[in-house]
Amino acid sequence: MACQSGSWGAMRAPLQRLNTGIAGCELGVMEDEHTHTLHFLLHGQHHKSPFDGSRLVFPPGLASLVVGSFYAILRNTLPEILGISVFVGGLCGYVVYDMIHYYLHYGSPKRGSYMYSLKAYHVKHHFEHQRAGFGITSTFWDHPFNTLIPDEKF
Ligand SMILES: [Zn+2]
Ligand SMILES: [Zn+2]
Repeated sequence: MACQSGSWGAMRAPLQRLNTGIAGCELGVMEDEHTHTLHFLLHGQHHKSPFDGSRLVFPPGLASLVVGSFYAILRNTLPEILGISVFVGGLCGYVVYDMIHYYLHYGSPKRGSYMYSLKAYHVKHHFEHQRAGFGITSTFWDHPFNTLIPDEKF
């Protein structure tokens, strides 16, 4: 399991970097047309309608192309058993990640629980700090990427 979340984490990190960049373009910091299109495909659709359940997860058709590419790259660059392990770990990690993201939008975690804090964090990402707070399952990668949303006391 550690290896699995590790391989998803390793794939998630560059995506997070990309998101940090694309979040900048959302706010007009970057004006590249291709970046806009890529952002919209990857993330913007969800931000445009965060409560549309049918747009919460990556579309399966598009996902199968991405998953297939990852499989081909891993199988052709790593020894068989390692390639398959990293692929399965990454895929499981991604599915868990997507399910947790879905839960953060539609679930009702108990006040004070870990999931409750993640939900509060993700709500801030959507409505207050779109250039920060990309962590879904934890705030781990927001530390090295300097995108942590500071704790606010009311
Ligand atoms: Zn969301
Ligand atoms: Zn977002």
